[in-house]
Amino acid sequence: MICIFLGAPGSGKGTQAKKVCASRGMAYIGTGEILRENVAAGTELGKRVQVILEAGHLVDDDTMIAIIEEKIKIENSFLMDGFPRTVRQAEALGELFEKYGKKVDAVIFLDVDSEEVTKRILGRFSCPSCGKDYNVHIDDIKDKRCPVCGGELLQRSDDTEETVRERIEEYSRKTAPLKEFYEKKNILINVGGTGSPSEIFERITEALDNKN
Ligand code: AMP
Repeated sequence: MICIFLGAPGSGKGTQAKKVCASRGMAYIGTGEILRENVAAGTELGKRVQVILEAGHLVDDDTMIAIIEEKIKIENSFLMDGFPRTVRQAEALGELFEKYGKKVDAVIFLDVDSEEVTKRILGRFSCPSCGKDYNVHIDDIKDKRCPVCGGELLQRSDDTEETVRERIEEYSRKTAPLKEFYEKKNILINVGGTGSPSEIFERITEALDNKN
């Protein structure tokens, strides 16, 4: 199966996408994560995109399309989280699918309003020692310490109030039109993104099962 996850920053895409991949044996392709790994490793790409990520802007389409081509040409069953983010990326993705003889089965749109996503983003933390993610609005976290391993919890450097505002504006301007783009192709599935993470996961699972 080939799947795309759409939704505002902080809509829970990353969390849900990873759960779906684990339960269905699909490869997870998260472009934000790929970029952050490059920044952390200090690669040429990482050095070039670091300021863009920290400002909450989008990386240019050509860079992102090249990254995604390398991934999708070697995978058969995968889920894309964070790509496409512009109409140009979506069009290029369609061309890449044709080139490699693949087709997207479902586009899941996680529907959450912008007030809620801001609150969620500002509440999220992760543990660099064991890799677990938390949200202060859901998890019982004391003194910013990881309940599993005791490591110090950190926020993503682009999860500040100012950057979040910019990311949501970028999303409304450039990414939100993709909903209509995929609606017209009859492959968009709207999933309510509020509720507990397990409830949302159930909704997504049901939607994907109905696709099979
Ligand atoms: P995410 O982890 O999906 O929230 O992505 C974090 C950041 O990575 C975004 O705010 C953008 O700066 C950048 N990014 C990730 N995916 C893309 C993409 N498809 N196009 C442009 N920029 C992207």
